[in-house]
Amino acid sequence: MMRATPNSVDIHRRQLLRGDLRGNRLPMRPPWARPEPEFNRLCTRCDDCIRACEPGILFRGDGGFPEVRFQESGCDFCGDCLTACRTGALEAPVPAPSVAWPWRARIQPSCLSLRGIVCRSCGDACDTDAIHFRLQPGGRAEPEVDTENCNGCGECLAVCPEDAVSLERPQSLSPRDEENR
Ligand code: SF4
Ligand code: SF4
Ligand code: SF4
Repeated sequence: MMRATPNSVDIHRRQLLRGDLRGNRLPMRPPWARPEPEFNRLCTRCDDCIRACEPGILFRGDGGFPEVRFQESGCDFCGDCLTACRTGALEAPVPAPSVAWPWRARIQPSCLSLRGIVCRSCGDACDTDAIHFRLQPGGRAEPEVDTENCNGCGECLAVCPEDAVSLERPQSLSPRDEENR
Protein backbone atom coordinates (compact mmCIF):
# COMPACT_ATOMS: atom_id res chain seq x y z
CA MET A 1 0.00 0.00 0.00
CA MET A 2 1.47 3.33 -1.02
CA ARG A 3 2.06 5.81 1.80
CA ALA A 4 0.28 9.13 1.26
CA THR A 5 2.73 12.01 1.40
CA PRO A 6 1.72 15.69 1.67
CA ASN A 7 2.68 15.95 -2.00
CA SER A 8 0.42 13.03 -3.01
CA VAL A 9 -2.52 14.46 -1.04
CA ASP A 10 -2.01 17.75 -2.81
CA ILE A 11 -1.92 16.04 -6.22
CA HIS A 12 -5.14 14.11 -5.57
CA ARG A 13 -6.83 17.29 -4.33
CA ARG A 14 -5.74 19.12 -7.49
CA GLN A 15 -7.14 16.23 -9.58
CA LEU A 16 -10.45 16.43 -7.72
CA LEU A 17 -10.67 20.18 -8.21
CA ARG A 18 -10.12 19.71 -11.94
CA GLY A 19 -12.67 16.89 -12.08
CA ASP A 20 -9.77 14.79 -13.35
CA LEU A 21 -10.19 11.53 -11.45
CA ARG A 22 -8.45 9.48 -14.13
CA GLY A 23 -5.39 11.75 -14.11
CA ASN A 24 -5.67 12.41 -17.86
CA ARG A 25 -4.60 15.98 -17.31
CA LEU A 26 -1.59 15.16 -15.17
CA PRO A 27 1.72 15.90 -16.90
CA MET A 28 2.83 13.11 -19.21
CA ARG A 29 5.93 11.74 -17.49
CA PRO A 30 8.64 9.65 -19.19
CA PRO A 31 7.89 5.94 -19.64
CA TRP A 32 8.53 3.87 -16.54
CA ALA A 33 7.75 6.86 -14.31
CA ARG A 34 6.51 5.87 -10.87
CA PRO A 35 3.00 6.96 -9.88
CA GLU A 36 2.89 10.74 -9.73
CA PRO A 37 3.25 11.29 -5.96
CA GLU A 38 6.28 8.98 -5.76
CA PHE A 39 7.71 10.42 -8.93
CA ASN A 40 7.50 13.94 -7.49
CA ARG A 41 9.24 12.78 -4.34
CA LEU A 42 12.05 10.86 -6.06
CA CYS A 43 12.82 12.97 -9.11
CA THR A 44 15.69 15.38 -8.44
CA ARG A 45 15.12 17.28 -11.72
CA CYS A 46 18.65 16.39 -12.80
CA ASP A 47 17.74 16.32 -16.54
CA ASP A 48 19.69 13.07 -17.10
CA CYS A 49 16.68 11.42 -18.77
CA ILE A 50 16.16 14.45 -20.99
CA ARG A 51 19.78 14.35 -22.15
CA ALA A 52 19.60 10.58 -22.74
CA CYS A 53 16.54 10.69 -24.98
CA GLU A 54 17.77 10.46 -28.56
CA PRO A 55 14.42 11.27 -30.24
CA GLY A 56 14.29 14.42 -28.09
CA ILE A 57 10.77 13.99 -26.75
CA LEU A 58 11.59 14.79 -23.11
CA PHE A 59 11.49 18.39 -21.93
CA ARG A 60 11.69 20.31 -18.65
CA GLY A 61 8.11 20.96 -17.62
CA ASP A 62 6.45 22.68 -14.68
CA GLY A 63 8.76 22.93 -11.68
CA GLY A 64 11.65 21.47 -13.73
CA PHE A 65 10.19 17.94 -13.78
CA PRO A 66 10.55 16.03 -17.07
CA GLU A 67 7.56 15.72 -19.40
CA VAL A 68 6.97 14.01 -22.73
CA ARG A 69 6.00 16.16 -25.72
CA PHE A 70 5.37 14.53 -29.07
CA GLN A 71 6.15 17.52 -31.27
CA GLU A 72 8.38 15.94 -33.90
CA SER A 73 8.79 12.32 -32.96
CA GLY A 74 7.33 9.45 -30.95
CA CYS A 75 8.85 7.29 -28.24
CA ASP A 76 10.54 4.07 -29.36
CA PHE A 77 10.66 2.69 -25.79
CA CYS A 78 14.42 2.28 -26.07
CA GLY A 79 14.77 2.58 -22.29
CA ASP A 80 17.64 5.07 -22.39
CA CYS A 81 15.77 7.43 -20.02
CA LEU A 82 15.21 4.55 -17.62
CA THR A 83 18.89 3.60 -17.67
CA ALA A 84 19.92 7.23 -17.11
CA CYS A 85 17.72 7.75 -14.05
CA ARG A 86 19.73 7.11 -10.88
CA THR A 87 17.09 8.03 -8.30
CA GLY A 88 14.41 5.41 -8.95
CA ALA A 89 11.92 8.02 -10.20
CA LEU A 90 11.81 5.87 -13.36
CA GLU A 91 11.61 2.21 -12.48
CA ALA A 92 11.01 -0.95 -14.47
CA PRO A 93 9.64 -3.81 -12.37
CA VAL A 94 7.98 -5.04 -15.58
CA PRO A 95 9.82 -3.72 -18.63
CA ALA A 96 6.99 -4.26 -21.15
CA PRO A 97 6.18 -0.92 -22.82
CA SER A 98 2.45 -1.51 -22.43
CA VAL A 99 2.93 -1.54 -18.65
CA ALA A 100 5.52 1.22 -18.58
CA TRP A 101 3.31 3.58 -20.51
CA PRO A 102 -0.45 3.70 -19.78
CA TRP A 103 -1.41 6.18 -22.50
CA ARG A 104 -3.33 5.28 -25.69
CA ALA A 105 -4.19 7.33 -28.77
CA ARG A 106 -7.58 8.92 -29.28
CA ILE A 107 -8.75 10.77 -32.40
CA GLN A 108 -10.39 14.14 -31.81
CA PRO A 109 -13.24 15.73 -33.85
CA SER A 110 -10.85 18.14 -35.56
CA CYS A 111 -9.42 15.15 -37.54
CA LEU A 112 -9.38 15.99 -41.26
CA SER A 113 -10.65 12.55 -42.28
CA LEU A 114 -13.62 12.82 -39.90
CA ARG A 115 -14.46 16.10 -41.65
CA GLY A 116 -14.37 14.52 -45.11
CA ILE A 117 -10.85 15.62 -46.13
CA VAL A 118 -8.52 12.85 -47.26
CA CYS A 119 -5.72 12.22 -44.74
CA ARG A 120 -4.09 8.98 -43.59
CA SER A 121 -1.00 10.42 -41.89
CA CYS A 122 -1.64 8.85 -38.48
CA GLY A 123 -2.39 5.42 -39.94
CA ASP A 124 0.71 5.56 -42.16
CA ALA A 125 2.89 6.44 -39.16
CA CYS A 126 1.59 3.69 -36.92
CA ASP A 127 4.00 0.74 -36.73
CA THR A 128 1.56 -1.43 -34.80
CA ASP A 129 -1.28 -1.06 -37.33
CA ALA A 130 -3.53 0.28 -34.57
CA ILE A 131 -5.39 2.86 -36.68
CA HIS A 132 -7.97 1.71 -39.22
CA PHE A 133 -10.21 3.82 -41.40
CA ARG A 134 -13.84 2.78 -41.73
CA LEU A 135 -15.55 4.02 -44.88
CA GLN A 136 -18.83 5.86 -44.32
CA PRO A 137 -21.60 6.75 -46.79
CA GLY A 138 -20.48 9.71 -48.88
CA GLY A 139 -16.84 8.60 -48.97
CA ARG A 140 -15.84 9.89 -45.53
CA ALA A 141 -13.44 7.59 -43.65
CA GLU A 142 -13.56 7.44 -39.87
CA PRO A 143 -10.30 6.58 -38.13
CA GLU A 144 -10.56 4.15 -35.24
CA VAL A 145 -7.84 3.28 -32.74
CA ASP A 146 -7.48 -0.31 -31.63
CA THR A 147 -6.35 0.26 -28.03
CA GLU A 148 -5.18 -3.36 -27.76
CA ASN A 149 -2.60 -2.75 -30.48
CA CYS A 150 -1.80 0.88 -29.64
CA ASN A 151 1.28 1.19 -27.44
CA GLY A 152 0.97 4.96 -27.03
CA CYS A 153 4.22 5.67 -28.86
CA GLY A 154 2.97 9.07 -30.02
CA GLU A 155 4.15 8.82 -33.63
CA CYS A 156 0.62 9.61 -34.81
CA LEU A 157 0.56 12.79 -32.69
CA ALA A 158 3.81 13.97 -34.18
CA VAL A 159 2.61 13.63 -37.78
CA CYS A 160 -1.01 14.84 -37.50
CA PRO A 161 -1.35 18.16 -39.38
CA GLU A 162 -4.36 19.17 -37.27
CA ASP A 163 -3.13 18.17 -33.78
CA ALA A 164 -6.18 15.92 -33.76
CA VAL A 165 -4.67 13.00 -31.83
CA SER A 166 -4.45 13.01 -28.07
CA LEU A 167 -3.21 10.41 -25.62
CA GLU A 168 -5.51 9.29 -22.84
CA ARG A 169 -5.53 6.61 -20.18
CA PRO A 170 -7.99 3.86 -21.15
CA GLN A 171 -10.76 2.62 -18.87
CA SER A 172 -9.11 -0.79 -18.52
CA LEU A 173 -6.48 0.34 -15.97
CA SER A 174 -6.58 -1.74 -12.84
CA PRO A 175 -7.95 -0.33 -9.55
CA ARG A 176 -4.39 -0.26 -8.21
CA ASP A 177 -3.29 1.85 -11.19
CA GLU A 178 -6.24 4.14 -10.52
CA GLU A 179 -5.23 4.47 -6.88
CA ASN A 180 -1.62 5.20 -7.61
CA ARG A 181 -1.70 7.41 -10.70
S1 SF4 B 1 12.26 5.27 -23.92
FE1 SF4 B 1 13.83 6.18 -25.24
S2 SF4 B 1 12.71 7.38 -26.76
FE2 SF4 B 1 11.28 6.95 -25.06
S3 SF4 B 1 11.45 8.74 -23.66
FE3 SF4 B 1 12.89 7.18 -22.94
S4 SF4 B 1 14.85 7.71 -23.93
FE4 SF4 B 1 13.22 8.79 -25.05
S1 SF4 C 1 16.78 11.16 -14.66
FE1 SF4 C 1 15.27 10.60 -13.05
S2 SF4 C 1 15.68 12.06 -11.38
FE2 SF4 C 1 16.66 12.93 -13.21
S3 SF4 C 1 15.09 14.32 -14.11
FE3 SF4 C 1 14.85 12.28 -15.09
S4 SF4 C 1 13.27 11.22 -13.87
FE4 SF4 C 1 14.02 12.95 -12.63
S1 SF4 D 1 0.21 6.08 -30.42
FE1 SF4 D 1 1.61 4.86 -31.73
S2 SF4 D 1 0.78 2.75 -31.63
FE2 SF4 D 1 -0.86 4.14 -30.91
S3 SF4 D 1 -2.09 4.60 -32.73
FE3 SF4 D 1 -0.56 6.26 -32.55
S4 SF4 D 1 1.19 5.55 -33.84
FE4 SF4 D 1 -0.14 3.76 -33.45
